[in-house]
Amino acid sequence: MSDRPRPSFPVRLDREGAKGAKTVTGSKQGSPTKPSGTPVTKPVVNTAVNVASPVARQAASGARGTLPVKSAVPQGMGLDSQAVRQAMVNKLAAQGIHDARVLEAMGTIERHRFVDSALVNQAYEDTSLPIGLGQTISKPNVVARMIELLLQGSTEKLGRVLEIGTGCGYQAAILSRLAREVYSIERLRGLHDKARENLRPLRLPNVHLLFGDGMLGYPQGAPYAAIIAAAGGAEVPTAWTDQLAVGGRLVAPVHSVGGERKQVLVLIERTGQGLKQTLLEPVHFVPLKSGIA
Ligand code: SAH
Repeated sequence: MSDRPRPSFPVRLDREGAKGAKTVTGSKQGSPTKPSGTPVTKPVVNTAVNVASPVARQAASGARGTLPVKSAVPQGMGLDSQAVRQAMVNKLAAQGIHDARVLEAMGTIERHRFVDSALVNQAYEDTSLPIGLGQTISKPNVVARMIELLLQGSTEKLGRVLEIGTGCGYQAAILSRLAREVYSIERLRGLHDKARENLRPLRLPNVHLLFGDGMLGYPQGAPYAAIIAAAGGAEVPTAWTDQLAVGGRLVAPVHSVGGERKQVLVLIERTGQGLKQTLLEPVHFVPLKSGIA
């Protein structure tokens, strides 16, 4: 008879090792299942209010939790979010995103769950949005483009992927559908916690959230089939390329010749012969910083 508390989800990983993450499934005795057949989990919620949905989140931030639910439903983002998301996907396709796997993932993950309730109505516009602590959730087009670059040349799922800059967790959720394992690292505690909260209701057993300095990569999970950075520095840290598998691909923003204010995307491929670097289009990402805060 074990009375051990169930682990919260996503299972917290410490620097000691990323292995052993467990999927939390519902209790065996009469655990209800959703119509989709997804096992219903009982995530341990630390806060008094379950902030899984924008509705609950808005209610939670409202006065004394007495808001009638209806008035808390963000306009235009109720049951019809599927349609708004599909319109975003159509636009992505028109902008040149062709990989059906990427489009499917972008059409499935609900971006509005990752932004503050006040910004929910802009969640499916092709724009970056503030997520707190001076950081932003990347534009859908940029997320799709970078992941498409990682997948290029392969018809299979990616193996292990390292994401530097978890932010609100949106891109990690997209990656979870396209990779076997996702290790995502964030240097700001506040955002690491926010991502954990945002991702908890999605129950993605292959996403491992890490708190630390992503400049160092995450050697415990290496080698990676793909590395993706959501923050840009003067150069790509050698720790990242060292942790890239042969045949692996890395996509990151880096400062271009114009200096700190100008960035371009760089694609780095590790071949049997070494590293091959390709500079791509201009982008605008938050700065890659060292240390944790
Ligand atoms: N992929 C994120 C985008 C977040 S913005 C999303 O979907 O929301 C980029 C993030 O990179 C910021 O949260 C910032 O704090 C983080 N970051 C910057 N330098 C970092 C570093 N050295 N290690 C880990 N995270 C870093």
